[in-house]
Amino acid sequence: MPPVPLLLLDLDNTLVDRTGAFRQWARAFLPEIGAPDSDLEWLMDADDDGFANKMVLAEKIRDRYLLDASLEDILAEIRIGVIEHLRLDPLVACALEIAAKADWLPVIVTNGTQRQQEAKIRRCGLDRYVAGWIISEEAGLRKPDPRIFAEAARRAGRRLGGSWMVGDNPAADIGGATSAGIPSVWISRGRRWSEPRFAPTCTADNCLSAVYEVLAS
Ligand SMILES: [Mg+2]
Repeated sequence: MPPVPLLLLDLDNTLVDRTGAFRQWARAFLPEIGAPDSDLEWLMDADDDGFANKMVLAEKIRDRYLLDASLEDILAEIRIGVIEHLRLDPLVACALEIAAKADWLPVIVTNGTQRQQEAKIRRCGLDRYVAGWIISEEAGLRKPDPRIFAEAARRAGRRLGGSWMVGDNPAADIGGATSAGIPSVWISRGRRWSEPRFAPTCTADNCLSAVYEVLAS
């Protein structure tokens, strides 16, 4: 029997709509502190699609609204808020089931803190649809370092050869997969590819189409 290949998947804005969850939290948070709804786009910009330094983000919020809360409390509010608003799209769950039935082993490869990323995975029920996950903080390796993909394969008891990576971040996911020597699907989320140094093997609009591309390969 041929070895079961790994389907490596990014978490935020690939398997779950993290930016959508942040937006929903922000919509509820602004009126709570007496801020106008029109500040929503300011808050979305400050979050930078989840890539803003979280302490800097908490500081910006505290300073703009002259809040008495500590930065740690603001940070906790954001983190809990994002987790509470995350939902697992049934189409994503379906895609993972199809992949598993087609003899692929789905494993999440994500950058972030152990506690937050694991809470996201468990809270929305993704843990039932994947064989495992590797989180940068705990692994001591961050995408795009190709060693994190090799470590994911080692932990799953598989070879990295034959694996695919699916993700939305050009540098971390696609650049990382390229360095690791494996094919990749970029989830475009309406963007155009603009990185000249490397390119994804395929591009897809969403996770379901991305899994379809891998299975069709
Ligand atoms: Mg992502």
